[in-house]
Amino acid sequence: MLIDPSSELSFEKSRPGRTGCELPKDRFAAPAGRDGLPGSLRRKSAPALPELSEPEVVRHFVNLSRKNFSIDTHFYPLGSCSMKYNPKVNEWAAALESFSAVHPLQPEETAQGWLRIFYELEQSLKAITGMDRFTLEPAAGAQGELTGLMMVKAYHASRGEAGRRKVLVPDSSHGTNPATAALLGYEVVEIKSNVRGRVDLESLREKVDRQTACLMLTNPNTLGLFEDEILKITDAVHKAGALLYYDGANFNALLGIVRPGDMGFDVVHLNLHKTFSTPHGGGGPGSGPVGVKEKLAPFLPVPLVEKSGERYFLSLDRKQSIGRLKLFHGQAGMILRAYVYIRTLGRSGLKQVSEDAILNANYLKERLKKLFPVAVDEPCMHEFVLSAKTGEGKGVHALDIGKRLLDYGFHAPTVHFPLVVPEALMIEPTESESKETLDRFVEAFQKIKDEIDTNPEIVKTAPHLLPIERPDEVLAARKPILTFRDCDLFVLEKVGHT
Ligand SMILES: *Cc1c(COP(=O)(O)O)cnc(C)c1O
Repeated sequence: MLIDPSSELSFEKSRPGRTGCELPKDRFAAPAGRDGLPGSLRRKSAPALPELSEPEVVRHFVNLSRKNFSIDTHFYPLGSCSMKYNPKVNEWAAALESFSAVHPLQPEETAQGWLRIFYELEQSLKAITGMDRFTLEPAAGAQGELTGLMMVKAYHASRGEAGRRKVLVPDSSHGTNPATAALLGYEVVEIKSNVRGRVDLESLREKVDRQTACLMLTNPNTLGLFEDEILKITDAVHKAGALLYYDGANFNALLGIVRPGDMGFDVVHLNLHKTFSTPHGGGGPGSGPVGVKEKLAPFLPVPLVEKSGERYFLSLDRKQSIGRLKLFHGQAGMILRAYVYIRTLGRSGLKQVSEDAILNANYLKERLKKLFPVAVDEPCMHEFVLSAKTGEGKGVHALDIGKRLLDYGFHAPTVHFPLVVPEALMIEPTESESKETLDRFVEAFQKIKDEIDTNPEIVKTAPHLLPIERPDEVLAARKPILTFRDCDLFVLEKVGHT
């Protein structure tokens, strides 16, 4: 057991009167001439909090944090999520007081530095994607999709074509794509993949028509494959008068190599928290800037940052704007991190990011496909998908392999997605891992493969070395136990004290 009971049970360690700090007695007294808190609102008894010294509290939280898997502690090949290393210099920049102490309602003249960061990041993203304008407002990839589709809707409406009510989505697309289209009342039409895991061009040509508002495409798709008929795809969609939406969440496969703008796309969203290195996971933070071609620029959310001479300002002047997506101007800290990341790497560094991401993925694919078949055996981009179907005879599923990897000190890949691959294991090593780490990962896979053959039970019941085994993930999300009391009791049970 990895659990160290002495580090865990803060309540049991509590001793009356033990404290880590002392608050000044008069700190909470009523100011002179004023009444204090009315008696009815005052506590009748002290709160039931543990009483501990400062080192005990520090150890408690540090030990708790060490039970987590994070990119700073573990290899984290979670497909589609780009869990790559986040250079600490970005954190340093985002924490600088001259940035962090600025309020979004301050007069523009006093926030010129911030506005310049917004402006210049937009210029970089335009250059990277080949689009004409960007909004940095959306607070997630999915909100970027919503923003993009709202502009698509407004565009068609402005041309008297509000009757376009279908959105085409390939069956390998990210789940947020059909969800976004459905949220806006669109009819979602699925496009089949061909045997090579790409959009089936015939199926697309059959389905795209005068009722189509747009095609939402993830490229590279969720199998990690580049759509090599991309120009035929964009051509077919444009000929029907529809628009093209590019899900660029996983842009670390493309930096400095190709641009959606050149492929004919009208809208693209990026995930700053994947490609441009902000720590993410566990629900945030996110930032999903959206870039558009000139024809969609009138519909962009407000405000946008403009520049006049040497002065930067926020412009609300956009009559056809879809409005605001979010309070204030976007996830400023992430915008700054992305800016620093891009400026640090420069053009050639960004290209190397993608080349290394692709190289790492292909290296891992070539080694792992000897153990589990790869969904489409072709060169991949930044990620690839294996099928664990061969384990089914022994009752072992992709989820079990993911759980067993935790015992070996690796975060699990994405499992059971994309849905087009049975027993999918979607692996994204990212550019920031060394060959030695990748080799250790292959060794763990080899061990698990051997275990499936000789002792499948140990895989089916994994993890064995972590404080929590297999929580009911739905229950954990819908009815989380958030009180520390219950948590501690839970841990007590685990270590056999009750
Ligand atoms: C992660 C991802 C999204 C959604 O991004 P969020 O920030 O999680 O909302 C959309 N599309 C693809 C391809 C992704 O990988």
